Amino acid sequence: MKLLRGFFQFCVFIILTVLTQIGGIAYLISSFVASKTGVRSWYAKLLVFIAFYVAATVSANLIAPIFGRIPISCMSGEANNLAVRSPIYCLLNRNYVTPPTLNLVSALANDVNRAFPGTTTMVLDANFPFWDGFPLLPHLSHSDGRKLDIAYYYKTAGGDFVNGVTKSPIGYFAFEQPSANEEQPCVGRHDILTTRWNFDWLQPFLPDYHIEDRRMAFSLKWLATEGVQRFGLEKVFIEPHLANTLGVKDSVIRFQGCRAARHDDHIHVQIRRLAVPQQLETM
Ligand SMILES: [Zn+2]
Repeated sequence: MKLLRGFFQFCVFIILTVLTQIGGIAYLISSFVASKTGVRSWYAKLLVFIAFYVAATVSANLIAPIFGRIPISCMSGEANNLAVRSPIYCLLNRNYVTPPTLNLVSALANDVNRAFPGTTTMVLDANFPFWDGFPLLPHLSHSDGRKLDIAYYYKTAGGDFVNGVTKSPIGYFAFEQPSANEEQPCVGRHDILTTRWNFDWLQPFLPDYHIEDRRMAFSLKWLATEGVQRFGLEKVFIEPHLANTLGVKDSVIRFQGCRAARHDDHIHVQIRRLAVPQQLETM
């Protein structure tokens, strides 16, 4: 029985660590405190864990900047043109970037909003608060604060831009399928070790939104020009068929390979290691 409980606790620790980085440690400390204070019932233990997890998450907001990463806020008001797509990213501590990365995406959001007033640029998975080399699964490369996923801009089937909304509730997994005559570098491959998931079962449940090509093309061209020159942008990942459709060919706009996740549901950006922090523009 004791062995079984130990195994269960180990699994919970691993899952929380993989999902949230600091949640596993919060769980270990809360389990220790619960056992030392005679807490027995599962819901009281859960409450103790939640208290420690919230304390750890709030502390990470304050401590991570000392180690070079800052949180992208989930509290942005309606006046803000940069937002995290879902509070879940902040609850799971997946919203941390280096200051230069935040500068890049803030400036992008400002310029997209300047070109298309009333546009919120939304971000998805970023990085965990601590420790270079600790990957934010399933994104193996999101391990140093310099990587960030940006949501697509969408419009309804009637062509109206939808602000602050993505096709999928978390921004991921609403794939833009290429048509048969478009470039499909991974067609016919059956990799076993891959994060190129298709989630065909999910697609019929998603609303009939389409990518808003004018904002998409503007932001990709901005990244390839302003992003590179002013903010040290290194790479953008997007599927070739969308880069072709949007007319955005550039050496920094690349295909991520067939083993990595699809990038026809979001854009991945990363900046150079030595990118110099710029003065933050007003948001
Ligand atoms: Zn990414």
